[in-house]
Amino acid sequence: MDPVIIAGPCAAESKEQLFTTASQLRQQFSESEIKLSFFRVGVWKARSNPNAFKGLGEIALPWLKEISEEFDLPVCVEIAKPEHVDLCLKYGINSVWIGSRTVVNPFDVQELADALSGTDMTVMVKNPIVPDLNLWAGGIERVMKAGISKIYAIHRGFAEMKENVLRNKPLWEIPIELKVKYPEIPIICDPSHIAGNTQYIPTIAQIALDYGFNGLMIETHCCPNQALSDAEQQITPAQLYNMLHSLIFKYRNDSPDEELLRKQRNLIHDIDSQIAELLVKRMLVVDEIAVIKTLYNIPIIQSNQWNNVVKRYQKNSLPDEHYASFIEKFLELLHQQSILRQQKIKEI
Ligand code: PEP
Ligand code: MN
Repeated sequence: MDPVIIAGPCAAESKEQLFTTASQLRQQFSESEIKLSFFRVGVWKARSNPNAFKGLGEIALPWLKEISEEFDLPVCVEIAKPEHVDLCLKYGINSVWIGSRTVVNPFDVQELADALSGTDMTVMVKNPIVPDLNLWAGGIERVMKAGISKIYAIHRGFAEMKENVLRNKPLWEIPIELKVKYPEIPIICDPSHIAGNTQYIPTIAQIALDYGFNGLMIETHCCPNQALSDAEQQITPAQLYNMLHSLIFKYRNDSPDEELLRKQRNLIHDIDSQIAELLVKRMLVVDEIAVIKTLYNIPIIQSNQWNNVVKRYQKNSLPDEHYASFIEKFLELLHQQSILRQQKIKEI
């Protein structure tokens, strides 16, 4: 599948701003092998601060319809209320996204799903601002159950209370889990909202592509420094062109890789079966220990014994802090599991 590239301003500010941005995008990408898939723009902005710019609302919709026809570029806008769906239908806007502040509320998502039901709209579901995979998955499922078939997931990072280099934490494990859960749903990364500044957008975009994301949504404005919202993170159409052409896209995913990786995949398969078998074996030995401890009144927790187990794993490790912290978490779970089993056996 070709990468899905979604570009356009954070918010609709004026007819001129929309047309200038769209026409510059069209010009930049007219000869490009990377194709633009959607022009994005917020016409109703969910702003934390009530005094912040909220987008132009309905008056921007007929301009966007014109843009989609003149520049041959489908337009997508954010929807947060069922009336937004009705207005999109009225003006022929066929692609929408549900924003991260809306996805946190299942009532709101359900109302949107009901309004979308029976339409053939393309619906993108951003991750909720809180790091909750089930909430994101639930939002997607509500849209699926409404009979929508063209669905995309958008990863835009997760809110953090404290100031950080990045505006939102990527927590890559969450979109990766989502991709494993719904392999048929394309997942797009929105590095603009993760970064919150233009400097880190390329790095985050490349990480997403390396993970196998299916595309990028990037805020693009004809004059970023005059933007009425998210000015620090918007780039120009020319900058977008240069950035996309400096990224490495991972196109190959099916048969060629299977062929190349067959040997290693078989090995991994084998190793995983052994690990699974050994873990079960280990638990059965834990059960035997539990019986002995119960018989002889020995307490379940014996710190020295457990510290020895930890040392054994540390001795046979990799010189890598991430691996060390993985082993630490793994051992914590292993210990908890074995304590649980011992408690159960004690109760019998
Ligand atoms: C946006 O894409 O303009 C937007 C508001 O994003 P999010 O819902 O991810 O904050
Ligand atoms: Mn924005």
